[in-house]
Amino acid sequence: MNIILLGPPGAGKGTQARLIEERRGLVQLSTGDMLRAAVAAGSEVGKRAKAIMDAGKLVPDDVVIGIIADRIVKPDCKTGVIFDGFPRTLVQADALDKLLAGKGLKIDGVVEMRVDDDVLVDRISGRYTCAKCGEGYHDTHKRPAKAGICDKCGSTDFKRRADDNADTVRTRLLAYYKETAPLIGYYYCKGSLRPVDGMAGIDEVTSAISSVLDVLGRSG
Ligand code: AMP
Repeated sequence: MNIILLGPPGAGKGTQARLIEERRGLVQLSTGDMLRAAVAAGSEVGKRAKAIMDAGKLVPDDVVIGIIADRIVKPDCKTGVIFDGFPRTLVQADALDKLLAGKGLKIDGVVEMRVDDDVLVDRISGRYTCAKCGEGYHDTHKRPAKAGICDKCGSTDFKRRADDNADTVRTRLLAYYKETAPLIGYYYCKGSLRPVDGMAGIDEVTSAISSVLDVLGRSG
């Protein structure tokens, strides 16, 4: 099964994609994570993407489509993929349909995570992750049980994304409404759109997405 998690920055796509990956054996493909890895590695793609990402703008379509094209041919993707943060433009959506069709595959469903705008800025500005295992935390809503120690792996090393600050968040939201929100109509018309309430707690959202995947699994 191949699904897309669609929603604005801060909607919880990464958190939910990781949970679904753990529970359902699907592979999370986050273009944001892949681009950050390319920046950290200092590759050509990373050099091209860094300033754009820091500014909160979208990396060119050909770059992200190329990354996804290389990744989805890997054997681990055979069992199914959760696309997290891709596609973000209509050009990317079209390219993804074609890439999958070339392998005899398709998108089985698009989970739209709906969250109010004023909540997004607060969520993004306070979030950070464990540098070792990637577990997500928030300054006010989700602190580690023991201050400074990751609940999941015990690491004391945490990191914040360079683009998770109030200024850049607004540019990222603008990019979302201008370039990505039209995908909601695109997938609605294709009959793939499955909205869930992203304002609920993490576990409730996971259950809602799980129910959607159960239905998709039965109908696919
Ligand atoms: P994310 O981790 O999904 O929030 O992505 C972080 C940043 O990476 C975005 O603000 C963009 O600059 C870039 N990025 C990630 N995915 C894409 C994509 N599909 N298209 C264009 N830019 C992307």
